[in-house]
Amino acid sequence: MAKKTITIAIDGFSSSGKSTMAKVLAKNIGYAYIDSGAMYRAVTLFCLNHGIIADDGTVDTAALEAQIGNIAITFGVNPATGATETYLNGTNVESQIRDMRVSSRVSTIAAIPFVRHALVAQQQAMGKNKGIVMDGRDIGTTVFPDAEMKVYVDASAETRAQRRFDELRSKGDTTTTYEQVLENVKHRDLIDTTRAESPLRRAHDAIVLDNSHMSRDEQNQWLLSLYNKIAGE
Ligand code: C5P
Repeated sequence: MAKKTITIAIDGFSSSGKSTMAKVLAKNIGYAYIDSGAMYRAVTLFCLNHGIIADDGTVDTAALEAQIGNIAITFGVNPATGATETYLNGTNVESQIRDMRVSSRVSTIAAIPFVRHALVAQQQAMGKNKGIVMDGRDIGTTVFPDAEMKVYVDASAETRAQRRFDELRSKGDTTTTYEQVLENVKHRDLIDTTRAESPLRRAHDAIVLDNSHMSRDEQNQWLLSLYNKIAGE
C-alpha cells in the first residue's frame, strides 16, 4: 500500500541528537530535511557580522528589525558529502554557524518575537506540500501544529554536552572545554524553555524519545518504525 505523504516535526533540547536522526530519516524516506536551528544560527551570524550584537551581548533590535528583510537563508546539498548545508545571502556558512561564538548568542536572537515570526513564516512555506522532516524547538507546537508525526527528544544535559564536545573536537576545536560546552547547553536550555514567544515544550500529541542510552542505529530504527506506522496507516 502506498504511504501517505506526511509532515514530521522533531523537537528537543540542544544537542539531543535530533538533527542527526532527522537527517537519516529524511534520506531514507526521500523527504526534504530542514534544520530550523541553522536558520536562527544564520540570523545570529548576520548580527555578529553587522555589529548588531555588542561585545557584551546587547542586541540592537531596531537595527535587526530594519535588516531582517535582507537576510536570505537557503539550503543546498553538498555534492561531495550529500549533506545539506546552510547559506546566508548566498554564502555557505555551515561551518561558521556551528562555532561557539554563534552558539553563545543564538538563544538570545531566537527569543526575539519578530525574528521568530519571520523564520516561522519561511518554515511554514517550506513545508506547505508536506514530505518534510523539520527539527527545532517549536516545530510541533507552532510551525506545524497539525503535523501527523511529532517526536520530542530528551536526554540529560551532561549526555548532550558530551556529544557537542566530541563534535567540536572532531572538527578540530581544541580550545573549548567540556565545562564550557555544558555551561552553554544549560544556558540555552534555560532561555529556550522560559522565553515568552513559543518556548520549547512538548506538544501534547508528541511522542517522547529519551535517547540517553540509545545508539545512533537504535534511534534511527525507532524513528523509521514510527514513520512506517504513521504513514502506512
Ligand atoms: O538546534 P540548534 O541547537 O542548532 O538551535 C540553535 C538555537 O536556535 C537553539 O538553542 C534555540 O535557541 C534556537 N531555536 C529555536 N527554535 C527552533 C530551532 C532553534 O528557538 N525551531
